[in-house]
Amino acid sequence: MTPFFEIRNLSKSFGGLKAVNDLSLTVEEGEIMGIAGPNGSGKSTLFNLITKIPFGPDSGSVVFRGEAIENRADKTIARMGIVRTFQREAVFASLSCVDNILVAVEQTGGLRGAEAEKRADEASDIVGFPRNFHNIPAAQLPVFYQKQLMITTAVAQQPTILLMDEPASSLVDDEVDWVHETIKRLNAMGMTILLIEHILPLLTGVSSRLLVLEQGTPIALGAVKDVIRDPAVVEAFLGK
Ligand code: ADP
Ligand code: MG
Repeated sequence: MTPFFEIRNLSKSFGGLKAVNDLSLTVEEGEIMGIAGPNGSGKSTLFNLITKIPFGPDSGSVVFRGEAIENRADKTIARMGIVRTFQREAVFASLSCVDNILVAVEQTGGLRGAEAEKRADEASDIVGFPRNFHNIPAAQLPVFYQKQLMITTAVAQQPTILLMDEPASSLVDDEVDWVHETIKRLNAMGMTILLIEHILPLLTGVSSRLLVLEQGTPIALGAVKDVIRDPAVVEAFLGK
């Protein structure tokens, strides 16, 4: 059977630094794969290489339902259903919230006008992003709602695989709970999720499997309960 999503020998260097180093893994349809690792271990770069936003790999392959996508354009990859959020709140600050969503819907979904607005409303309701914020400039939103807007923008593109890069960073307890519940809900709707997160209770609480990276190389991959007891993982997190 064709694997759902496969990364084969993926590498990316910046000068002499191997940010992602010969990484291979398979993701199963419907799972939440958590991704952990120290700062600079290549987590965000991995998402860049998968989505081509903003750049692809030096070598290796990304295969979605049997089709190699690493030579496709970023917008094509999004259209195929692989959509990311960003570590920092990446909204168009001068645009209204709804225009932020509509730009993505138009680019990825090819929808215009009333159809695009309907999609923006639906995604807002799914995420719980208040529709009465739609006409506020995105820059005026508090960080929590900017995060919600970023997730709404991703959901409006109807992802098959949703890549979330530290959705809970700089949030407080109740807000982290909201992220937890939202990830579970999106997964229950059928989205496969790759989740980068530093808040370990959140990461271990929602993930079916964990991947741990160190210097661009996987040091552990498996069931959460096994990975968190792995001596190499404990060492990577507690320091040498
Ligand atoms: P993480 O998300 O795990 O914290 P990153 O993937 O952002 O780590 O970065 C991995 C390594 O690659 C780091 O050493 C970082 O400094 C480097 N890096 C990431 N992006 C770039 C870039 N655009 N140019 C140069 N170096 C980069
Ligand atoms: Mg990062």
